Amino acid sequence: MKCPHCKKDLEQIDFRGIVINECPQCRGRWFDRGELQKAKDNMDEDLCWLDFDPFSKKEKHFSMVPEEGGICPKCTENMAMLAYANSGVVIEKCEQCRGVWLKEGEFKKIVAYLENVLTTRSVSEYVADSFKQFVEIMAGPEDRASEARDFLVVLKLLKLRAAIEHSKIAELTNKIYQCLPFL
Ligand SMILES: [Zn+2]
Ligand SMILES: [Zn+2]
Repeated sequence: MKCPHCKKDLEQIDFRGIVINECPQCRGRWFDRGELQKAKDNMDEDLCWLDFDPFSKKEKHFSMVPEEGGICPKCTENMAMLAYANSGVVIEKCEQCRGVWLKEGEFKKIVAYLENVLTTRSVSEYVADSFKQFVEIMAGPEDRASEARDFLVVLKLLKLRAAIEHSKIAELTNKIYQCLPFL
């Protein structure tokens, strides 16, 4: 397989527990079908329920970039270039073999963006997520075990978030009490 940009032969590397291909020159990386999701989940288990799937029709965060992508290293089709929400992440995907090409540093950006999504969600958003994930255990797109894992992760995050907000409220009420001279 050749790098879509510098045409060097790609080398196999071990990345987050899976074998992927990397360009020795530009350090771009090729992820076969499904490998990107796996690498993301291996990087941080808390991200498992947040999908990053440029091939899903339900996914609304990706938009086409009006630039020509490189040639797919696997099946030599032209790849499409996509931007992800307002993250600054740009990927190339092959519709034919469903592989994804990431330039150096893009994987880190994806993980950082998703982790930011986790830490900025409110308790009420997590409650809504929990319900959604619970329903997906019965009717979700993935198998029941991984849907159950997704649900438990969301529940854990909800608990963490609630604890943080609870301590903030406690701090605030303490301050209010201190400010009231008649108490
Ligand atoms: Zn390259
Ligand atoms: Zn391809």
